[in-house]
Amino acid sequence: MYDLGLINGKTYRNGHFTPLDVYVKKEKIAEIVSPDKKLSCKKTVDCSGKLVMPGFIDPHVHINLDLGEFKTSDDYESASKAAAFGGITTFIDFLEPINKVEEFHEKLQQKQKEAETSFIDYSFHTTVGNFKDDVDKLVKLSLENGIPSIKLFTTYSESNRRCSYEKIREFIENSNLTGSLILIHAENDEIILNSNVEDQIAIYESSRPANAEIEEIDKLAEIVSELKGRIYIVHVTCGSSIELLKEKYPDLLQNNIFVESCPQYFNLSKDVYETDNGNLFLLAPPLRSTDEQEKLRKNIAIINTVGTDHAPFRREEKQRYIAASKVPKGLGGLEYSFSLMYNLFGEQIIPKYTINPAVIHNLFPKKGIIQEGSDADLVIFNPEKEFKIDSGHSQSDYSPYEGMIIKGLVESTILRGNLLVENRELVGKKEGQFIPRK
Ligand SMILES: [Zn+2]
Repeated sequence: MYDLGLINGKTYRNGHFTPLDVYVKKEKIAEIVSPDKKLSCKKTVDCSGKLVMPGFIDPHVHINLDLGEFKTSDDYESASKAAAFGGITTFIDFLEPINKVEEFHEKLQQKQKEAETSFIDYSFHTTVGNFKDDVDKLVKLSLENGIPSIKLFTTYSESNRRCSYEKIREFIENSNLTGSLILIHAENDEIILNSNVEDQIAIYESSRPANAEIEEIDKLAEIVSELKGRIYIVHVTCGSSIELLKEKYPDLLQNNIFVESCPQYFNLSKDVYETDNGNLFLLAPPLRSTDEQEKLRKNIAIINTVGTDHAPFRREEKQRYIAASKVPKGLGGLEYSFSLMYNLFGEQIIPKYTINPAVIHNLFPKKGIIQEGSDADLVIFNPEKEFKIDSGHSQSDYSPYEGMIIKGLVESTILRGNLLVENRELVGKKEGQFIPRK
């Protein structure tokens, strides 16, 4: 007797959809069989006309991010609810930046406490600021706690978060030995500091120009070609950045350099900054020109993963100030992330939400695949359903995509064999678990 059976759907296996039924027992996928062989189970869900996929993984979210005057709108409860409605069953948040090894435990405990109300599974990345301590010690401690990834910034010197090149090199060298992954927010700090652009929303993009990203990625790739190691560039905004990597460092791509981008850079452009609602779209790095967006779309095959960089604020908070520098930066995006990208790219987007982030972030084969023995994290998706994006289940009162009409909607989401969302109704409990990554 199985606990749950998803029957009569088309199931995603080995990169394509096949008519297969999926049976679940004790939180795991137990059997995948042809639909003419019906097995007995406590509950069945008829998936006729639907696609059955592995639960999605968002490797880049910010929950309870505290910026002083502002704090992002979502806590674990609301963020994980929005995620569940979008088919996301695992997300990876960031520990607050640390400058010394001894701060690690406190930052980890703080996040673990916050995450107790999560509806979905979660993990963390360690984050460093202007780190001056022992790199090997920090990585070792992080690994021992199930966190094989360290995030650092090449910018934000004004808030003491910029990591020195000396330390960046140490982290990259260490990743050769330990297999850790170095996540990098790549924007050139000097270019940003010297941009001398007036502090206005309409021209916000030129205060952190495309060039700042492209040059910094070039610089980092140069370091990697010398030292090897494993880096993962978060939220790549420009198609030109990808083209540069393809041309100058083809052998490093997919081996030493991994690339993440976000739905906002494919679906929105900097033109919105010139509208009355420009404030609502402020984030860092900024939205780019339609040319860069077009190039990014053309290079989708090179992008390994899609993360949302989820960091929503409320309308009033975004609109409190006129000066761009004072507006809290960040957008919400968990709930419609997959639908937005499926709408643009179809089935080729699926690995970027499943097996790729699972492999790159050490969640595989527990997560990211429909196979016997893996966690029964599953999404039932209606590829034909057209719908209009609303503000969703986030605690923010708007979505940057609100009003867009797109095709392809998540209908049900299953976490470790338990229905979390069933036909667009939340039915599950706050039973998300910390997933140590090995
Ligand atoms: Zn981020």
